[in-house]
Amino acid sequence: MQRTHQLFQQARELIPGGVNSPVRAFKGVGGEPIFFERGEGPYMWDVDGKRYVDYVCSWGPLVAGHADPEVIRRVQETAANGLSFGTPVELEVEMARTLCQHVPSLEMVRLVNSGTEATMSALRLARGFTGRDKIVKFQGNYHGHVDALLAQAGSGALTLGVPGCPGVPESVVADTLTVPFNDIDAVEQCFNEHGNQIAAVIVEPVAGNMNCVPPVPGFLEKLREVCDRTDALLIFDEVMTGFRVGPQCAQGRYGVTPDLTCLGKVVGGGMPVGAFGGRREIMEGLAPVGGVYQAGTLSGNPVTMAAGLATLERITAPGAFEGLEQTTTRVVDGIKERADKAGIPLTTNQAGSMFGLFFTDDAPVTRFEQVKACDLDTFNRFFHAMLEEGVYLAPAAFEAGFVSLAHDETAVQETLDAAERAFARV
Ligand SMILES: *Cc1c(COP(=O)(O)O)cnc(C)c1O
Repeated sequence: MQRTHQLFQQARELIPGGVNSPVRAFKGVGGEPIFFERGEGPYMWDVDGKRYVDYVCSWGPLVAGHADPEVIRRVQETAANGLSFGTPVELEVEMARTLCQHVPSLEMVRLVNSGTEATMSALRLARGFTGRDKIVKFQGNYHGHVDALLAQAGSGALTLGVPGCPGVPESVVADTLTVPFNDIDAVEQCFNEHGNQIAAVIVEPVAGNMNCVPPVPGFLEKLREVCDRTDALLIFDEVMTGFRVGPQCAQGRYGVTPDLTCLGKVVGGGMPVGAFGGRREIMEGLAPVGGVYQAGTLSGNPVTMAAGLATLERITAPGAFEGLEQTTTRVVDGIKERADKAGIPLTTNQAGSMFGLFFTDDAPVTRFEQVKACDLDTFNRFFHAMLEEGVYLAPAAFEAGFVSLAHDETAVQETLDAAERAFARV
């Protein structure tokens, strides 16, 4: 741990908290973040040479695993022709076509540079299209660090325990209504009170920033129904779930079609990316066709498009997703089995290649209140024990886990053996 410790000391002097994104900081689990320098398939190596099986996958994007040879080849080939032109390029048309082909709700799409930009822009577009101001979001859902969406947000905001956020004026969140996730009655009530003023509902169709919580039956359908009834737009934030819970994203898996969809993470295959899209009549509200302004110097970057397209080809290949989902089930069920054997209360959730581990016997976990009531001390001890055993889980109890196409039988078995030893000492 020599070099990683030294680097973190230097980082702390130069970068707030030593990290460029708070979720990396180990604040929830204690200890210092680890610096990594290399990845290959399901593994990554820290700067001191220790190897880990990785279940963070860069927080979701690396669905093809680390340094997939085909992804790297396409990136190198594209980069050799120049990194950016600030003009239209063929690869972004190919990306738009690929997304519209696989994601049921997309007729048109615009590419941006992060998930945050995608949700921020989708929100602006929804407000512009409907001429209304209010938006509905769910407690514990995270949509990037957009001012209006930081109210009761998940992910790092939840780990650090910040319900609101200094620097976000009251006036900016005044039009944000927050409702409990998976609570159909609360949605109904919210729309009864504010229905004709609501521009949009934004939701993570599988909540992945309060650990991993799939929608209860009827929840997404209810959102569709109240939006139809009041002419509000339904926005699925699929930045995490896109090509993670199914080859047609959550909207394909659950059969509910949103008006707008936000994407990111997997779509860039490890390069910075975001995208949002939907029906043509809504998307043509964007400049330069319509009046809703949105722009980006590096949007649709060819190198990013190359990484994303190569990754999407891998995950949408026939049979690929089914295999990935089965691997995920083997990991999740295997960990659960070993917790049971050790007498440790553990509940699990899975949606496609996303999973959640909850240290509680209050199964199934469907609500934010249940997530918050889990035994964080046991999670933290388990996290550190797994780290010692060479398995890298997300360094916070409120994050989903991710499996990649590169996680093979050997990596899975190593993980389960590690879990058995870890449970024996938590
Ligand atoms: C990660 C994430 C975002 C933000 O994406 P960034 O690229 O980090 O800005 C937005 N929404 C969801 C659901 C996410 O998981």
